[in-house]
Amino acid sequence: MKLILLGAPGAGKGTVAKLLTAVDGSVQISTGDILRGAVQAGTELGQQADAFMKAGDLVPDDLIMGIMEARLQEPDCDKGFLLDGFPRTIPQAEALKSLLNRLGIELDMAVNLDVPREVILDRLTTRRTCSNCQAIYNVKSNPPKQEGICDKCGGAVVQRDDETEEAISKRLEIYNEKTAPLVSFYEGEGLLTHVIATSSEEVVKTIEEKLGS
Ligand code: ADP
Repeated sequence: MKLILLGAPGAGKGTVAKLLTAVDGSVQISTGDILRGAVQAGTELGQQADAFMKAGDLVPDDLIMGIMEARLQEPDCDKGFLLDGFPRTIPQAEALKSLLNRLGIELDMAVNLDVPREVILDRLTTRRTCSNCQAIYNVKSNPPKQEGICDKCGGAVVQRDDETEEAISKRLEIYNEKTAPLVSFYEGEGLLTHVIATSSEEVVKTIEEKLGS
């Protein structure tokens, strides 16, 4: 499957993407994970992106398109991909459209995960992430077995720098201003599917049904 996952920060795009990879071997492509990896590795991309990310701001479109142009041409994308956290702006969506045209790739759909704001705020302030393998935990609903240590890889489980209350409200504001308009964009492209994202398993089921029909 070739999908775009849309939705506010904390809507569950990453969780849904991970579940979907198990369905048919499509790869999850998360620009947030790629950028955090680059920051940690101290690459030039990481140095350019770091300050934007810490502040909860978007990384400039040209940096993101550079990443995605290379990533979508890697051989593991042949089986399909789940775009998680990209595109985030109308210019990114337009650039993705021409990139896919150029590569001869057709999207199946853009899925909008709809989650109430209170749920989002609660999820983001209680979310913790493995600084090594990016596994996601939640202090209330899904803590690691040993506090602060990843069950999967033993890495340090931490609160992200951009998950302070201040950065979260900035990310939500930017989402409303820059990313929410993508819903209408993909509706116009005839690709939009809307899902009430109460549980990630339900979302996966709905997506599988739509793809099958
Ligand atoms: P979330 O979806 O939880 O907000 P991500 O992991 O997708 O978080 O992104 C974290 C940060 O990485 C964003 O706040 C932004 O600074 C940067 N980022 C990720 N993807 C993009 C993108 N497509 N365009 C611009 N910035 C991005």
